[in-house]
Amino acid sequence: MTARTHDLAAITALLVVVLVNMPVSLRLSTLLLAVFANQVGGIAPDIDQPTAPLWRNLPEGHLVGKVFGKLLGGHRFISHSLIGFALFGWLCDLLLHFLHPLMPHVDILLVWYAFLIGYGSHLIMDTFTKEGVPWLLPAPVKIGIPPLKRLRITTGHWMENGVVLPGLIAFALWLCWGHYDHLVALLHRVVS
Ligand SMILES: [Zn+2]
Repeated sequence: MTARTHDLAAITALLVVVLVNMPVSLRLSTLLLAVFANQVGGIAPDIDQPTAPLWRNLPEGHLVGKVFGKLLGGHRFISHSLIGFALFGWLCDLLLHFLHPLMPHVDILLVWYAFLIGYGSHLIMDTFTKEGVPWLLPAPVKIGIPPLKRLRITTGHWMENGVVLPGLIAFALWLCWGHYDHLVALLHRVVS
């Protein structure tokens, strides 16, 4: 899937979790950082390829991306597995605890959850693509849904851009519409 679809899937997944498990109170700083972490998590698995958005926006990023890709075993390898999910989750947890003294009012647990939700949504979305995802590394099997490869989505093709992307937008809007009062109430409870 493209970065745009992953971003949208990550924020939609976060929205679903928030609606199911509405926080009692939420600071603005936590909300903003959680959305940021969610978006980073949504594209983080693709740092295993030099064309990832992160590398494209960094000077000499293409080269760094190549090195990172090699370290992670190539595209759709470690970072696209449960081991990668645990590894990146652990690194994010370390970073948040390191930064917490600089932002003591931020609920880093919620930010961490938002990152994991974004990361998990990436792996789930990629599972629907032709390449599949090696969820169970070191078992060298790429898992895809549906099992028949030719029925899966090709990254960047019409099915993704014409069906999945608009479908995610429609679903997110439908959720916001259906839970408008709850979301407004939550935003009213946001304290700075
Ligand atoms: Zn990916």
